[in-house]
Amino acid sequence: MKVLVINAGSSSLKYQLIDMTDESVLAKGLCERIGVDGRIEHKRADGVKVEKDLPFPTHKEAFLALIDMLTTGEGKVIDSMDEINAVGHRVLHGSEKYKVSTLVTDQVIEDIFAFRDLGPLHNPPQATAMKACQEVFGKDTPMVAVFDTSFHQTMPEKAYMFPIPYEYYENDSIRRYGFHGTSHRYVSQRALALLGLPEQESGLVIAHLGNGASICAVRNGRSVDTSMGMTPLEGLMMGTRSGDVDFGAMAWIAGETRQTLSDLERVANTASGLLGISGLSSDLRVLEQAWHEGHARARLAIKTFAHRFARHIAGHAAALQRLDGIIFTGGIGENSVLIRRLVSERLTVFGLAMDAARNQQPNSAGERLISADGSRVRCAVIPTNEERMIALDAIRLGRIHTAAALA
Ligand code: ADP
Repeated sequence: MKVLVINAGSSSLKYQLIDMTDESVLAKGLCERIGVDGRIEHKRADGVKVEKDLPFPTHKEAFLALIDMLTTGEGKVIDSMDEINAVGHRVLHGSEKYKVSTLVTDQVIEDIFAFRDLGPLHNPPQATAMKACQEVFGKDTPMVAVFDTSFHQTMPEKAYMFPIPYEYYENDSIRRYGFHGTSHRYVSQRALALLGLPEQESGLVIAHLGNGASICAVRNGRSVDTSMGMTPLEGLMMGTRSGDVDFGAMAWIAGETRQTLSDLERVANTASGLLGISGLSSDLRVLEQAWHEGHARARLAIKTFAHRFARHIAGHAAALQRLDGIIFTGGIGENSVLIRRLVSERLTVFGLAMDAARNQQPNSAGERLISADGSRVRCAVIPTNEERMIALDAIRLGRIHTAAALA
């Protein structure tokens, strides 16, 4: 029972081959510079690494190269591509149509392409990659599309509407969609198990903090609110994105500095957040180091990040009927002892008490509780694993029941 998980971009294609009998990753890699020249980096579970420069005029040649890598030479982990039972594709945007993951058909590929206004950088190359994958694997290998937006399709209208004239929603589907849905779904399921909570009576706030960052309120296993909107720019302050910012302030800047709206969109996406305030880096590790060395703006950037983050957690708690747990995931959520400490200090109002020693554990400790015994709201770290969630969907929707699986 082996599943190939694909995350395609316009010039790249990340892959993982997962053996779902024990959920082990057999190999993973990256095809890059598709359409330019081409390069593949491949790593087997035992640490063997292979790198090759190969021409990738399109995504199809990249698929052929990764299959060659998986089945022959130093990179080999399987005898033939027939051993791959299903392929799972990560897709950015499913609009309002795809409320759950789905088996890929020609119509699904067409739809993913048609939602290009909502995900201009991701949807078109992802649809292209799916077509190429179909050509390489043929139609007998089930392919599944897993959307970053679908987990949030359970949000009620009042949570997904923007308070702007209604016709923008009616005419152009302008509304909040949310992202990181596969991560929020995976982490919330694992959290229910870790905390021993029955799904039907539970309330969680999940914080996915990486370069991009979002929060999700999960009531009885379903997303009821999330911090990202129609694009990933809304909500939390991030590595280079501003998150929420007063539109009036941006309009003032546009007027005073004669920048266009698209100039300011670029500023808000690529020059703001941790990078914008610190003037130093978007990378939290660099900023934590700089804080220790006395860099005042690195300190201000981190404190502002924590302030806005705590405020969003509190806001999302309001979408729940009960708050059982606050869960951290993503590169920052899993690794930054400092951010978790700063935020938990702001959340004592909820009866959250962090256990300093538990908070210090390295991420290699895996899924772990970090709140103190007796804390009214519990707090945990759960390393995210979107690939595993995608592979599980591929097995379920592909109805893979191989002899090996039944044995
Ligand atoms: P992406 O959203 O690109 O997948 P990640 O989830 O990998 O990003 O998160 C990247 C962020 O995690 C960076 O800001 C990085 O500095 C931070 N990070 C990773 N390891 C640590 C660590 N040990 N301490 C503090 N921050 C860390």
